[in-house]
Amino acid sequence: MQSTLILGAGVTGLAAGYASGWPVYEAAATPGGICSSYYVRPGTTERLPRAPDDGEAYRFEIGGGHWIFGGDPAVLRFIRRLAPVQTYQRRSGVYFRRDARYVPYPLQYHLAHLGEDVAAQALGEMNTPAARAPVTMDEWLAARFGPTLMARFFGPFHERYTAGLWTRVAPQDPYKSPVDPALARQGAQGKTTMAGYNIRFVYPEAGLDTLARAVAGHGTMHYGKRAVRIDPKRKIVVFDDGQQVAYDVLISTLPLNKMMAISGLETDDAPDPYTSVLVLNVGAVRGARCPDDHWLYVPDAEAGFFRIGCYSNVDPAFLPASSRAAGNRVAFYIERAYPGGEKPGAEAVAAYAQAVVEELQVIGFIDDAEVVDPTWIDVAYTYTRPGSAWRRQALERLDAHDIVMVGRYARWVFQGIAGSIRDGLMVGSALRDFGF
Ligand SMILES: Cc1cc2nc3c(=O)[nH]c(=O)nc-3n(C[C@H](O)[C@H](O)[C@H](O)COP(=O)(O)OP(=O)(O)OC[C@H]3O[C@@H](n4cnc5c(N)ncnc54)[C@H](O)[C@@H]3O)c2cc1C
Repeated sequence: MQSTLILGAGVTGLAAGYASGWPVYEAAATPGGICSSYYVRPGTTERLPRAPDDGEAYRFEIGGGHWIFGGDPAVLRFIRRLAPVQTYQRRSGVYFRRDARYVPYPLQYHLAHLGEDVAAQALGEMNTPAARAPVTMDEWLAARFGPTLMARFFGPFHERYTAGLWTRVAPQDPYKSPVDPALARQGAQGKTTMAGYNIRFVYPEAGLDTLARAVAGHGTMHYGKRAVRIDPKRKIVVFDDGQQVAYDVLISTLPLNKMMAISGLETDDAPDPYTSVLVLNVGAVRGARCPDDHWLYVPDAEAGFFRIGCYSNVDPAFLPASSRAAGNRVAFYIERAYPGGEKPGAEAVAAYAQAVVEELQVIGFIDDAEVVDPTWIDVAYTYTRPGSAWRRQALERLDAHDIVMVGRYARWVFQGIAGSIRDGLMVGSALRDFGF
């Protein structure tokens, strides 16, 4: 009988383990990967893996607010069976920090908020035919939105969101920046409709950690097992505690670049770039000018972040129990991108955290901060250089050694929790039933 292992107990690996029954090996001590909640009591620094019995803790997430959007009905049914969920209607926008102006998301369908002149100019510039087909993301955005919106929002925002990569990578995921001229015209006249890929989302009533634990409960889990080397010829995984495990087929959810590095396989093309994200979770006394949005895209924050999300505006259950009715506290996640792997040192992170807290106080979103807790997401957003064949070559080399890459980071694509669960379920059940 074939022996198959799964590497990584994020939602993809958990779903693959659920569907197949194959053992899952995970570096961390808990399941969920970046989709997991943790809890911190006000005024403390200790991360608790579960909500304390008295409920007196902020709920945060490792990777910042993780809202489950866009799932097809079968995946949502799977999620609901394991963890009851609530449904929410998105409230998000762009926040221009310097002039304290809010524009609902997506900005291109709410042009009336930028004033009549700017709206008219922006409308006239949208979808202008370019002299040549756009090759890079900045060229593609410029052709879609034109110079006025590029200068005001899309340029400075993408510079931060991609940590400067947008001038060197290929356009991708066009649905994130939709342009429907009819909706743009309506928005310029003040009439708006909800648009985008995440208008509604669901979230587990008792926290994302309950979903991860429920899926893990159906699998064979091995925690504290970091794969440090793979011998693709002998088909052996070596873990950081020295254990070696042989496999016939390896299912990996680890980022594609890391997997290539630990397996010693090579490609002709150089690896494609990615960004890392520093997520700062902040629990605080609610400020007088704290908005009601679930999240805001910020092109001009002094501290350099690109998005600020408010867990407790989605649901007060993210607050310590005694504050839920009064709403006198607030729980935020703040995301800043860095060129892939360029992790700042502890002192730089502390200085950045201080700058974020001060900026949130100046703009009136928070008063005193009670918890300030950073997490480094090493591979957060993945990109492709124009013409690069690295991704295809890497996936093929691994596949040729019976290493099947599954999930967002493993396949170097953009997708959410629901898409990742679908991938894991599909690969787990298809390969279990039909073999390789
Ligand atoms: C900043 C940010 C915000 C996001 N927001 C949303 C959102 O709101 N909604 C949404 O649907 N999606 C969101 N996503 C996407 C979502 O996080 C992913 O789709 C999902 O987490 C992918 O799960 P995964 O299991 O493939 O990867 P991961 O969660 O990364 O899981 C991989 C697992 O492998 C383990 N591992 C790593 N190295 C090793 C090793 N050497 N040996 C053993 N184990 C190892 C890790 O510890 C981890 O548990 C967001 C992503 C980012 C970066």
